[in-house]
Amino acid sequence: MSDCLFCKIARKEIPAQIVFDEGDVLAFKDVRPQAPVHVLIIPKKHLARVLDLSTEDAPVLGDSWGGNALADRFSVRESGFRLVVNNGPDAGQAVAHLHFHFLAGRPLRWPPG
Ligand code: 5GP
Ligand code: ZN
Repeated sequence: MSDCLFCKIARKEIPAQIVFDEGDVLAFKDVRPQAPVHVLIIPKKHLARVLDLSTEDAPVLGDSWGGNALADRFSVRESGFRLVVNNGPDAGQAVAHLHFHFLAGRPLRWPPG
């Protein structure tokens, strides 16, 4: 997708604070962090929303998606973290490229707003 913001980040056409870049997955800091640690995990392949994942995408659903690499990187394996996927308008999805929010570093209220 030539005009997709996160595809441009994945292609390194626009800058981002990249946390890791492994195989089919990229993680970078959210530009408007909602917690001390707020990282977005994306497939480099353009998928507009989580509903578009299929079994062929299973290889990208590895450790990175589960947050393992980030949990260690930010030392929150024991203190905890939250993975969030917003899908569609009611969830407030603003960027139409699948992304998992990795949030940590403070107590997170439940339920979310
Ligand atoms: P959504 O609401 O779609 O689940 O989340 C989109 C997220 O992308 C928001 O948290 C927003 O702050 C973040 N975001 C939007 N534009 C940019 C950008 O250009 N760079 C980075 N790093 N994050 C962005
Ligand atoms: Zn995209």
